[in-house]
Amino acid sequence: MMQVTPINEWFGRETELKKQLQAKEKRKKGAGIAEKIEYRDELDHNITPDEEWFRHKSWKEKRARVRQALCDAGTTHSALDRYDNCGGGCIVEYSKTEQRYRVMGSYCHCRHCEPCMKAKSTLITNNLRTILKGQPDSQFRFITLTLRHSDAPLKKQIKRLYRCYKTLRATKEWKSSQRGGAATLEVKWNPTAKKWHPHLHIISRGSYISTYKLSSLWHDITGDSHIVDIRLISKEKDVAYYVGKYVTKGTNSEVWDDPTVAAEWVTATKGVRMCATFGDWRGMKLLAKPKDEGKDWRHVASLASICRRARAGDVQACHLLILLEEQCQYNPNRKRPSKPRDTRDGT
Ligand SMILES: [Zn+2]
Repeated sequence: MMQVTPINEWFGRETELKKQLQAKEKRKKGAGIAEKIEYRDELDHNITPDEEWFRHKSWKEKRARVRQALCDAGTTHSALDRYDNCGGGCIVEYSKTEQRYRVMGSYCHCRHCEPCMKAKSTLITNNLRTILKGQPDSQFRFITLTLRHSDAPLKKQIKRLYRCYKTLRATKEWKSSQRGGAATLEVKWNPTAKKWHPHLHIISRGSYISTYKLSSLWHDITGDSHIVDIRLISKEKDVAYYVGKYVTKGTNSEVWDDPTVAAEWVTATKGVRMCATFGDWRGMKLLAKPKDEGKDWRHVASLASICRRARAGDVQACHLLILLEEQCQYNPNRKRPSKPRDTRDGT
């Protein structure tokens, strides 16, 4: 096989080209480049090393550990193939009305794939922001329900958590105060104690419920757990951010350090809904695909060919690659909102 310079090594050396890409061109978001480039070549859905670098560079080591866990948990060949080739066959398009580029490819949508989960989080956040605009003057609370540490297998603990949460929602105290919302599952692994710590984060629209009342209800239901937390979300716009964030959080990174633990995590969460809506949020289309605002998306080139041409010294391709890199790093919804206010009395 022909030896090629990996695009990551190439990219770091091209500082001169970055300088050439004047601020003026950046402000126009590279509109001029799209007009000059159009490479049409055959697309291969198997991921190329350049595409792999482009999509997965930020979590390369973890990705290998996740893959091993997927194998250990008996993931099917086809799912593993999708995971391996996530981000392959990418094409770059440009819209004049939107004034931006987009990268379209085939993605694995695996819940353990970081870039796929980031995309899902952004989608949910954006959809929820649109939905919540139509629900003014709502009060939102961030409620956390935890289970006492246990040595039971994780799958059992998760089932129990969801069962208790269902019972809680059927109580008159809950029904009379909470209107609707979304619950997301987070499971922390404590590597020192070697214990799982599953909990539910609930973003709930409703009225006052006291921490004391909720805690005693939760203890009555679980029989052994009383730790709950209620915080008021003061800024409504932060609600969408929190749902998006926790949907994709899942677990802490230490899980992937131990292959046995990682395999248990993958197996235990198979088929488990990481985000479940309740009350008047049921039926909300949180994962609805965005409507194509700009209808004028035009093919610019495949990502693989842009990388190839950039390496061969094609200045336009270099500039486009730099812009794409910056654009993919930038996420307008990544702004971190203020922390929810700690209101022990639940007001
Ligand atoms: Zn993926």
